[in-house]
Amino acid sequence: MTTHLVWLRNDLRITDNKALHAACSDPDARVLAVFIATPQQWLQHEMAPRQAAFIHANLLLVQQALAERGIPLGYHQCDDFATSVDWLVAYCEQEQVDRLFYNRQYEINERGRDQGLEQCLSGKVICQSFDDSLLLPPGSVRTGGGEMYKIYTPFRKAFIQRLTESDVRSLPAPKTRCGGALPITAVPEAFNYPPAEAMGDFPAGEEAALQRLRTFCREQVQDYLEQRDLPAIAGTSSLSPYLAIGALSPRQCFNRLRAECPQVLENSDSGAFGWLNELIWREFYRHLMVAYPALCRHRPFIDWTDKVRWQNNPEFLQAWQQGATGYPIVDAAMRQLNETGWMHNRLRMISASFLVKDLLVDWRAGERYFMSKLVDGDLAANNGGWQWAASTGTDAAPYFRIFNPTTQGERFDPQGTFIRKWLPELADVPDNAIHQPHRWAEQQQRVLDYPLPIVDHKQARLDTLAAFEAAKRGEY
Ligand SMILES: Cc1cc2nc3c(=O)[nH]c(=O)nc-3n(C[C@H](O)[C@H](O)[C@H](O)COP(=O)(O)OP(=O)(O)OC[C@H]3O[C@@H](n4cnc5c(N)ncnc54)[C@H](O)[C@@H]3O)c2cc1C
Repeated sequence: MTTHLVWLRNDLRITDNKALHAACSDPDARVLAVFIATPQQWLQHEMAPRQAAFIHANLLLVQQALAERGIPLGYHQCDDFATSVDWLVAYCEQEQVDRLFYNRQYEINERGRDQGLEQCLSGKVICQSFDDSLLLPPGSVRTGGGEMYKIYTPFRKAFIQRLTESDVRSLPAPKTRCGGALPITAVPEAFNYPPAEAMGDFPAGEEAALQRLRTFCREQVQDYLEQRDLPAIAGTSSLSPYLAIGALSPRQCFNRLRAECPQVLENSDSGAFGWLNELIWREFYRHLMVAYPALCRHRPFIDWTDKVRWQNNPEFLQAWQQGATGYPIVDAAMRQLNETGWMHNRLRMISASFLVKDLLVDWRAGERYFMSKLVDGDLAANNGGWQWAASTGTDAAPYFRIFNPTTQGERFDPQGTFIRKWLPELADVPDNAIHQPHRWAEQQQRVLDYPLPIVDHKQARLDTLAAFEAAKRGEY
């Protein structure tokens, strides 16, 4: 009997899992699965304890779902990628594995690990890997000259063209296999990782993810364009934690969207197209990361921006992290992040812009902090978002476009509903004063238990423009 081993990594689901599906396609094969936790490596990559806890909760459910189908999921923990490869090679030998199946990861260390593994197994185990976490494989959407697009809009156009020509159907969960499951190594009660802080409402499991996806596509997606920028409204899908760990696939998202809105590709003014557009941003950043691996090493896309003289004031960084900058929309955003591990996209843009362009802190400090807190932390999307906000990325906001945090707040949280939810100390401040509460407090002769703005936005804007322009001229 042949033995197939599925190595689960960032694909914690049993439906529409390409590697798992391929491993199960031979009805006579013995199919085993394995997950290897590498806490030290995760710490080095600043993975949030919340995300580790979310992975753990999802892994337990995957183990159970696989066991019900006669597929034992083994668990192993080791320090880092190198030792995980050694262990896996020995495990393949011990279990007499004929074929190894896995879904590709695109980060530079992960790719190096997989190459190393395939070399070690060469001639002993046949390795099959799959592009599973994207609608279209990296490298498959290129300019006429065969290059990766650097600008999003033409990428999207070419992407949609390719999408219509591609088979992106979702795959079913494997059928129950006979042959009896082997005893399995139980997943421990928790990973050996720092304890997770409280988290937003993200029930574990692919069923929960699919349920959320169905509801969103049926009931909310039509209003996406009107609501997606308003943090006081739950107008986005909140599916990012599931997509980030592979409890949900982008094919499942696209197919569900198309089932509810069959005209999605033809109607570019629709909410459905607007939502698909965000899924394509996700693809864009991943495709970029493969084309430009230096992004994984946190290199800016635009070289000269590396010469910006950041002030890197540690007190400013700390005030930003704690949600104590005196700018209500920024502080409410940071407290949402700190208390739930998730932040609304508009607020990620505002708070990132504030750190970089009002406080002149190197964007990489913000990128790291987000990663250490986000339950949906994803290297490509996080790096892409930070480089966009910092004007260091390809197709980023130009450096002279600097969000005014007060007018952003007025525009996207006009009544201050979101702000009051996260800053209870501003509960009594009326709507028309919520974005500049100290002005109101002064008129009322009241003292607020809320910090004064740590910088003057007008001055900070000028300082930032000067810093970017000096770097651009090569003065540093
Ligand atoms: C500074 C910054 C950091 C970010 N860090 C991350 C991160 O670590 N992980 C992450 O998943 N997203 C990140 N984003 C993108 C975006 O903010 C989140 O994906 C989104 O807020 C998740 O909420 P949602 O699931 O309700 O999104 P929806 O609006 O429902 O969008 C659907 C899905 O599309 C993807 N998506 C949406 N917007 C983007 C985007 N701008 N770039 C890439 N993918 C997108 C996500 O997978 C999301 O779940 C970041 C954005 C910025 C500006």
